[in-house]
Amino acid sequence: MAHQGSCHCGRIAFEVEGDIDQVMECNCSHCSRKGYLLWFRPREQLRLATGEGDLATYTFNKHAIKHHFCPDCGCAPFGFGSMPDGEPMAAVNVRCLEGVEPGKLSIQQMDGKSF
Ligand SMILES: [Zn+2]
Repeated sequence: MAHQGSCHCGRIAFEVEGDIDQVMECNCSHCSRKGYLLWFRPREQLRLATGEGDLATYTFNKHAIKHHFCPDCGCAPFGFGSMPDGEPMAAVNVRCLEGVEPGKLSIQQMDGKSF
């Protein structure tokens, strides 16, 4: 099914296709601060309803993942990167999707702090 997502103010809006089977919570310095609950999708499954120009971008460490956020309200709905096989990937923060209740999801803990 398609999930509708947005930042808080609506400047960033998007749709992402797929079933949310499992999400990941990472304890690294970046993910823990933002409170991400991440759901990984092939990049083409995410369709932006707003322009790329509305995305502010943060990168760190190896700068391999573009962590996007809203320049107005600060919400961070997704990041773009690559899977190990090189396929473009979207890491969706399910907290920014409509109708998703984090308490009902299967959350896998990832020890990103140790990477
Ligand atoms: Zn916003």
